[in-house]
Amino acid sequence: MIIGLDIGGTNIKGVIINNDGTILAKTSVTTGAGIDATENNICHCIETLLELSHINKKEVDAVGIGSAGAIDKQKGMVITSPNIPAWKHYPIVQRVEKITGYTVFLENDANAAVVGELWLGNGKNYKNWIMLTLGTGIGGGAVINGMPYTGNNGSAMEFGHITIDYNGLQCKCGRKGCLECYGSATAVVHFVKSHCTSYPDSSLNPIAQHTMTARHVYDEAKKGDPLALYVFNLIGTYLGIGIADLVNIFNPEAVILGGGLSSASQYFLPQIIHQVQKLSLEGMKENIRYMTTKHGDYTAAIGAAKYALETI
Ligand SMILES: [Zn+2]
Repeated sequence: MIIGLDIGGTNIKGVIINNDGTILAKTSVTTGAGIDATENNICHCIETLLELSHINKKEVDAVGIGSAGAIDKQKGMVITSPNIPAWKHYPIVQRVEKITGYTVFLENDANAAVVGELWLGNGKNYKNWIMLTLGTGIGGGAVINGMPYTGNNGSAMEFGHITIDYNGLQCKCGRKGCLECYGSATAVVHFVKSHCTSYPDSSLNPIAQHTMTARHVYDEAKKGDPLALYVFNLIGTYLGIGIADLVNIFNPEAVILGGGLSSASQYFLPQIIHQVQKLSLEGMKENIRYMTTKHGDYTAAIGAAKYALETI
């Protein structure tokens, strides 16, 4: 048995899987703010997985962690994580080994998501595909001739930081106009707030004054709220512009969307496809399949488990 954790800025997703790829339980807990809260929530996530699957603690062989941000796999360290500000040169492997007693392995969350989709998801049906993970930020991944491409130091495919508008919104990476400022869950909230005066009757107006998330916008889109539908169409346009560039580079068989925001893809995928058809080159854009990840936003947790399974 292996436990896989995907630690993002908002939630920790966990799965417990056996060696042949059967998912025995999955759960999600909030990440929390600060090192102590996050460590407590990691423990809580693992305990919940053991309870749900009726697996004894001793039956688990290892824990794989997929983490957002820049990591040093050799040192088992998160160097910086824009969405978890408390983690600066944080020795995550050593800490989680100490508090849980398990052997722990660390992988970049975007790479973990690709491995998860290739192992147990829709990616196993294609040889050449790209994936965009739409969450607080945007992660990316590519499989070329059946193999994940990770670059020289294992952190390639930062699709969230390709430029959509060089004079545009300020990105956390230091540049302006990156795709993740225009197509992430954070962007959905930003665009609702910046357009709400144009939609005075939108039911999102009172929510926008408080703690609004992309989930609220999705819920209102389902009820036909015009501001919610406008914003999803807008992010679909921006995502389509970015994905059209990626199609020109990779000529993929499939484009797979993952991350929490992909559950709302019915409201922005048509615009993505429209933009790719409009903007990508002839010979590149034909016969592309578009889909969401098979196991929703548990893909990176599944991939983290697979990484631990192969590394142990
Ligand atoms: Zn950026």
